[in-house]
Amino acid sequence: MEKFDILIVGAGPAGLAAARAATRRKLRTAVVSREAPGGTCVHRGCVPVKSLLASAAARRTGVVPAPDWQTARTRALEMAVHFSRGAASELARSGAAFFLGEAVGAAGDRVRVKPVDAPSFELSARHILFAVGAQPVRPGFLPESSRILDAEGALRLPSLPRRIVILGGGAVGCEFASVFSDFGVETFLVEREAHLLPEIDRDCGVTLAGAFARRGIRVATGTAVEEVREGADGLRVVTADGCVIEADLLLSAVGRRPVPVDGGFRVCGDAAGSVQLAPWAEASAEAAVAAICGEDSAFEGDAIPACVFSHPEVATVGLSETDARARGIPVRVGKAYFRANARAAAVGETVGFAKVVADYVTGRILGAAIVGPGASDVIAAAAIAVRNGLGADALKGVFPHPSFGETLSAAAPQHSL
Ligand SMILES: Cc1cc2nc3c(=O)[nH]c(=O)nc-3n(C[C@H](O)[C@H](O)[C@H](O)COP(=O)(O)OP(=O)(O)OC[C@H]3O[C@@H](n4cnc5c(N)ncnc54)[C@H](O)[C@@H]3O)c2cc1C
Repeated sequence: MEKFDILIVGAGPAGLAAARAATRRKLRTAVVSREAPGGTCVHRGCVPVKSLLASAAARRTGVVPAPDWQTARTRALEMAVHFSRGAASELARSGAAFFLGEAVGAAGDRVRVKPVDAPSFELSARHILFAVGAQPVRPGFLPESSRILDAEGALRLPSLPRRIVILGGGAVGCEFASVFSDFGVETFLVEREAHLLPEIDRDCGVTLAGAFARRGIRVATGTAVEEVREGADGLRVVTADGCVIEADLLLSAVGRRPVPVDGGFRVCGDAAGSVQLAPWAEASAEAAVAAICGEDSAFEGDAIPACVFSHPEVATVGLSETDARARGIPVRVGKAYFRANARAAAVGETVGFAKVVADYVTGRILGAAIVGPGASDVIAAAAIAVRNGLGADALKGVFPHPSFGETLSAAAPQHSL
């Protein structure tokens, strides 16, 4: 039986980052995954969905020739294959051994691995780290039907429906609403909580809902889907407030639950629970390997930005105004709008704002939220400020003119004159 220093189960962003961290420390490293390297991020998440969003943007903005759905879907899946191959060769270069198969049991220092077409075998290691990700939650009231999909099913749709209901107004639901609407699908988005993106600053969800409504996406918030029935020609979806929606397909995007890991093993990434973001998964994996090696591991999870790549984009980092007040931290909040930004006007993307939350006493930036053009890139400047405890001055004079970042700079509240 092969014996390693560390055996990592899962080769998504967390497993791959753990393997990088382990091989850098010269540990004999094995990675076991039941699919090619890349995980949810590469095969059915960040990478292919962003490719679809880019194709959708080409349709919205009238790029010629505009990609049709089949072209967009093929491109998204090809990108997944491309990035998976890149991850596989990086893993090979690092010297880690890769085993394609499912970890079907683990105890003590052993893991049993079952490849698809071969008998199972055991691997053994001094340390075992699980990076097995999360699985989509499927609400119990949904019937078994080929008309009901999760994100992976949506990515692989052979053709577009005429009407779709999206259950859940979180990041995944909002990104797919943006994609389907740009491809001309009549799109209904239903969120049980009072506003879209309920886990972040309320202003962001409200602004996004307004922008979606202007694009023709029908958004219902503060109401739950209570019943879904399949008939001969489609689905009949009934919400708690009595609204009846007829649709061809339903995309369930109500969240993802960590894959449970028994046996008291160390866990990182989405499987560890709290946050489901690729950079968070990587950082938690680095910290797990450092801890295994007995090193101090400062894990700065709070300064990792969270983005929704819908149109318009939404990005946040650190504390929201509500979070800060809930923790009893006195804050100063600044806000600026893209309608006053010359670059935004030039590209015709003037919806949205930037908001910066700073500590009232010290002036340090605690968090930021941006809805609007370039949000997912500009947020990095706020993340640097949050991570390093910088004040508003750090955001002044660093953005070119005219640029989207100027709105972030304008929002940063001055501590003193
Ligand atoms: C539609 C969608 C869009 C997303 N977009 C973004 C985005 O834009 N930005 C962002 O930061 N995050 C995004 N995410 C979240 C991101 O994909 C995850 O946070 C990230 O992939 C978590 O990495 P991980 O390594 O913890 O888990 P995963 O990427 O899920 O990897 C876990 C791997 O372990 C394998 N595995 C599980 N059990 C076993 C077993 N028993 N044996 C062997 N292998 C096993 C799985 O097959 C999988 O390959 C998105 C997610 C979805 C669903």
